[in-house]
Amino acid sequence: MVRHSSRIELSQSSLTTNINFIKKKIGKGVRISSVVKANAYGHGITEFVKMAEKAGVSHFATASAFEAEEVMDAKSENSEVMIMGILYDEDIDWAVENGIEFYVFNYARLPLVLKSAQKLGKKAKVHIEVETGANRTGLTDKEFLPTLNFLKKHSEDIIFKGLCTHFGGAENISNQFKINKQHDRYKNFLKKCKQKGMMPEVRHIACSAAALAYKDTVYDMVRIGVAQYGFWPSPDIYYMHLQEIGKQSDGALKRIFTWKTDVMDIRDVDEGEFIGYGTSFQAVQDMKVAVMPLGYSNGYPRAQSNRGHVLIKGKKVPIVGLINMNLFMVDVTNIPGVELGEEVVLVGRQKNNTINISSFTQVTQLLNNEMLSRLPSAIPRKIVK
Ligand SMILES: *Cc1c(COP(=O)(O)O)cnc(C)c1O
Repeated sequence: MVRHSSRIELSQSSLTTNINFIKKKIGKGVRISSVVKANAYGHGITEFVKMAEKAGVSHFATASAFEAEEVMDAKSENSEVMIMGILYDEDIDWAVENGIEFYVFNYARLPLVLKSAQKLGKKAKVHIEVETGANRTGLTDKEFLPTLNFLKKHSEDIIFKGLCTHFGGAENISNQFKINKQHDRYKNFLKKCKQKGMMPEVRHIACSAAALAYKDTVYDMVRIGVAQYGFWPSPDIYYMHLQEIGKQSDGALKRIFTWKTDVMDIRDVDEGEFIGYGTSFQAVQDMKVAVMPLGYSNGYPRAQSNRGHVLIKGKKVPIVGLINMNLFMVDVTNIPGVELGEEVVLVGRQKNNTINISSFTQVTQLLNNEMLSRLPSAIPRKIVK
């Protein structure tokens, strides 16, 4: 196979550090469901699942059946998979057959699940998602009692695996009143379960932000996305953590992701010449320019044009001109000895310098998650120590 124009390295030791930190935060007896939607937030689902298992994770959550299929191929036998979002009617059989857990967020789905379980002679494992105030998916109050009755009646065929909801914005302190209200409504649903004598096996509502900052939202399981990849969900959550431990800073969460490429060509550019398309960059002196073999079609944001930096020989090197579809140029005039094929870090650390996703996203107005999840799955991912 020929070589791709960039590569992503994933640090196993950083992930293990992150998982251990999260475990300590949530306490003993609470299970982590590792959220690996969006190609594991751009990290690469196949590689990431293997790494997470090594770090002690055995439950994975996806947004879609399509992603769950990828996890099924990557995971070891003992790990479990849960679909939190789209599962089409015609794929229910597939989920039940493979023992995949999935959310049910409307009553109409239940008879279909029952039919499938009976047909296959296998128990379906459902997580009932309830509406508490995010108003995206979730069973309403009105549908809830009929749902519990249905589950009770058909407990031979359907396992009431979980009761769950999702907070709409737990990462911002300014949303706290909303989060509290959602939590209260969730407790009401739990009360109804108790009254019916129909308790779920696992209760789970916390995402990264809630799990790290709001201990009372941590039940039997937490669904951890962004934090396991080494990102604080928001400055709010980071500062709440610092307050809790009484420190000025804390490197408890480690980025696991480094994006690299290499110098494709080096050329001299005379004073007065323009670089690349258009006239957005004109050399004001004689320059040396290094050519990068990737561009916006490879997930490198075009908004970095004339603004962003890469790392070469541990130095921050400015981008000159526009990011093209498959190429861009950087100014190496002041860096002696740059050679063809020299390693370039696009995101991550090289020697004593780091380029963070966040420095990137400040320029581009992208969310961290957005930038990460857009990294093409075609970029090869490699697990390193
Ligand atoms: C994405 C997602 C999560 C994980 O959120 P993070 O903030 O990345 O931890 C948890 N639950 C649901 C339903 C999600 O869609």
